[in-house]
Amino acid sequence: MVLDTEIKAQLEQYLQLLESDIVLKFSAGDDKVSSDMMELVNELASMSSKITVEKADLPRTPSFSVNRVGEDTGVTFAGIPLGHEFTSLVLALLQVSGRAPKVDQSVIDQIKGITGEHHFETYVSLSCHNCPDVVQALNIMSVLNPNITHTMIDGAAYKEEVERKNVMAVPAVYLNAEFLSGGRMTIEEILAKIGTGPDASEFENKEPYDVLVVGGGPAGSSAAIYAARKGIRTGIVAERFGGQVLDTMSIENFISVKSTEGPKLAASLEEHVKEYGVDIMNLQRAKSIEKKDLFELELENGAILKSKSVIVSTGARWRNVGVPGEQEFKNKGVAYCPHCDGPLFEGKHVAVIGGGNSGIEAAIDLAGIVKHVTVLEFNPELKADEVLQNRLNSLPNVTVLKNVQTKEITGTDSVNGITYVERDTNEEKHVELQGVFVQIGLVPNTDWLEGTVERNRMGEIIVNKHGETTLPGLFAAGDCTDSAYNQIIISMGSGATAALGAFDYLIRN
Ligand SMILES: Cc1cc2nc3c(=O)[nH]c(=O)nc-3n(C[C@H](O)[C@H](O)[C@H](O)COP(=O)(O)OP(=O)(O)OC[C@H]3O[C@@H](n4cnc5c(N)ncnc54)[C@H](O)[C@@H]3O)c2cc1C
Repeated sequence: MVLDTEIKAQLEQYLQLLESDIVLKFSAGDDKVSSDMMELVNELASMSSKITVEKADLPRTPSFSVNRVGEDTGVTFAGIPLGHEFTSLVLALLQVSGRAPKVDQSVIDQIKGITGEHHFETYVSLSCHNCPDVVQALNIMSVLNPNITHTMIDGAAYKEEVERKNVMAVPAVYLNAEFLSGGRMTIEEILAKIGTGPDASEFENKEPYDVLVVGGGPAGSSAAIYAARKGIRTGIVAERFGGQVLDTMSIENFISVKSTEGPKLAASLEEHVKEYGVDIMNLQRAKSIEKKDLFELELENGAILKSKSVIVSTGARWRNVGVPGEQEFKNKGVAYCPHCDGPLFEGKHVAVIGGGNSGIEAAIDLAGIVKHVTVLEFNPELKADEVLQNRLNSLPNVTVLKNVQTKEITGTDSVNGITYVERDTNEEKHVELQGVFVQIGLVPNTDWLEGTVERNRMGEIIVNKHGETTLPGLFAAGDCTDSAYNQIIISMGSGATAALGAFDYLIRN
């Protein structure tokens, strides 16, 4: 039975929301995935009189497409969309039946305006929490525009295809058979990638702001809300609204919320900021800042935004190990997200670089999927909590190398090994393996501020107790600052402090 009782009960409720008849067209063979897929498809049809099933000649077997009666939408699932993709299946059924997707009208208009054939394919794993957003975004595009099709491909059901295309990180999106992009993307990011996002001219006539926030994570969102609640003109520029929380599924220490998921928290942040009429400029990257009469913030697209005060909350990103091979083999065996990409290394040998909490958690996770995990730690001892170390030591398929320095990640088309030096003997060694997960912490996103404000040796912006930097009128908050700890609630607190500090500065000046 593919659907357990609980999922079936959920589906039954959702299927009552179908607005019109839909047709599931399938192509199935004699294999196990085909028979499981057929069980799912037939079960769906048995649960709603609005769903019919039809045999068809689809490019992949096993696969099924979700269509309106008499009109193919181009939404196809190759494999079985359960696990993290269950929501993608439900939304596809509802949206094809006519339920409006939850996206802004401006985004709908942009999608409808796309001309030319766009055939998207997304390789996923069913345990990847970054994949559904991409699948759902592309399905929406496919439902709204007849020039667009989208196929979700479960890597586990299409192992040979995944190996042939050398897909080693998911989600991996192809457009018209060419690789487009990897990793989590929102619908706006996809539109920007295919050249339909806003350009500099959209920012030309913006009035100066009282407070301009740079960065749309927890710190920036909190700063924007606190500033806007003072009734002053507030704008927020973010490369990717939501920030790091988008990369985690489980948050259990956001006080007053017992448990939530990162993408859910990111969506609530955006919703809350929108409540206050803040001018949100998402998918825009700040390039440099200068203080003249007003602050002038230059964006990567060339636009200049002016403001009386600025709050920098650009957070942090994964730290690279910085050895030969890391950049060359990114997404070809070098990975940063064990939850997402772990399943693609099933039965293989992988390394985890980093023996802190995130490294050891990754190693424990991966040991359940892959054949063998080698952990490389630079220091003589692991830094992870004892409970994690004990768990790691209990696993039979893990080797821990301490006091070693990674020298190179080797490979041809993809990773085939790692070279390291034993620091006490200076002896160089090589291990043959197929994947390397880098887990050595984060670096602040402050390079673009070079020469404007004082930063410490880690690159973190130095702030005082009002959140003010060494440049009057320029405030900073969150993980990009020299705060002692990096957590959501701490970033939000410092965002509020910086906004109140900026308000104080505006009154005095
Ligand atoms: C995997 C993972 C799990 C975590 N789990 C937890 C947890 O359970 N609990 C907890 O409290 N904390 C957790 N954290 C830490 C927490 O996510 C961070 O402390 C918090 O997100 C920091 O918020 P921030 O707003 O300072 O920065 P970020 O969240 O990093 O946001 C930075 C923002 O700035 C934008 N930006 C960056 N550069 C530019 C630029 N040049 N121009 C414009 N915009 C830019 C980014 O796109 C983003 O919008 C986790 C972090 C990770 C990576």
